[in-house]
Amino acid sequence: MPELAPYAVSGANSKGRRHAEEPPSQRNEFQRDRDRIVHSTAFRRLEYKTQVFVNHEGDLFRTRLTHSLEVAQIARAIARALRLNEDLVEAISLAHDLGHTPFGHAGQDALNDCMRGNGGFEHNLQSLRIVDLLEERYAEFDGLNLCFETREGIVKHCSLENARQLGEIGERFLNRTQPSLEAQICNFADEIAYNNHDIDDGLRSGLISLDQLQDVSLFARYEADLRSAYPNLGGRRLIHETIRRMINVLVCDLIAMTAINLARQKPKDLAEARLGVPLIAFSDELREAQREMKRFLHKHLYQHFQVLRMTSKARRIINDLYLAFVTDPRMLPLQYQSDGDQPRRVADYIAGMTDRYAMKEHRRLFAVGEF
Ligand code: MG
Repeated sequence: MPELAPYAVSGANSKGRRHAEEPPSQRNEFQRDRDRIVHSTAFRRLEYKTQVFVNHEGDLFRTRLTHSLEVAQIARAIARALRLNEDLVEAISLAHDLGHTPFGHAGQDALNDCMRGNGGFEHNLQSLRIVDLLEERYAEFDGLNLCFETREGIVKHCSLENARQLGEIGERFLNRTQPSLEAQICNFADEIAYNNHDIDDGLRSGLISLDQLQDVSLFARYEADLRSAYPNLGGRRLIHETIRRMINVLVCDLIAMTAINLARQKPKDLAEARLGVPLIAFSDELREAQREMKRFLHKHLYQHFQVLRMTSKARRIINDLYLAFVTDPRMLPLQYQSDGDQPRRVADYIAGMTDRYAMKEHRRLFAVGEF
């Protein structure tokens, strides 16, 4: 691995852990964070949570687990090329979706509506709550006791009101400074991963078509190149060859544009890299191409009537569960019953559910003849 750039996060400039621990003997601190995340309960549940498609729809679609692995792969490639901390981006990527509710964004929006008046619900903050508090694995502390830079990377965005309650993690939102370059990379890797895999899953499910994708200029360009280079190519291979070119051009553009920004700004250390505008960036052309992909997916996939039916069902399930438990907390498993902030504990319980567990719990509570 290349030597880290002076503005990379490293063991030497890290703000460390909340509870002091002996340094690991055969790993660095960020490898240790990654390993703790991989062994957590919340990480295993990602296998049965979805972003767009409900999990039982088919075995070939992305889950939050495979999404997180794709994000980690993309983030590591970018970090290594820029001599940034590959272990840290891997840790952040694998943890970035831990706080998601079942049923993707529909679930998060529904739970946020339920929690209005009780502090709301935000998946970034829930991810932080999981790694700081909810995981029960260690004798001496709650949560996973991750390094500041991993925790900072997990909180991609948050309201100023919430930022005020996050202590050191919230400061950058109040001071308007940037997170580490590694954290910025993970945000881009997340977008590159989901835009591309949602196109792939959208095609596979038949909800979007190759014809419609002619509106996405990157897709149309690579598909046309491929058709002229391989006139007989079709089906899955044509789609995969197109998508891998899109991922590649986005990753290469991000690396090239960021290298230009770094050469221009010349941050001498991590502290300087946090000032001013974000240094990790696409060129104008690829930023627009990425926006175009997003607009396309919103219009043709996320608003597709079949997806909206699932979204509506998901909202109903989350609403029903929340209302039932808040109305009578005695129906909750004992560890979620609380003398303190009961709505927050209901939200913890619901957010921790996988898609199929939420459906099962809903049947247990509402279906006559189910227990
Ligand atoms: Mg994500």
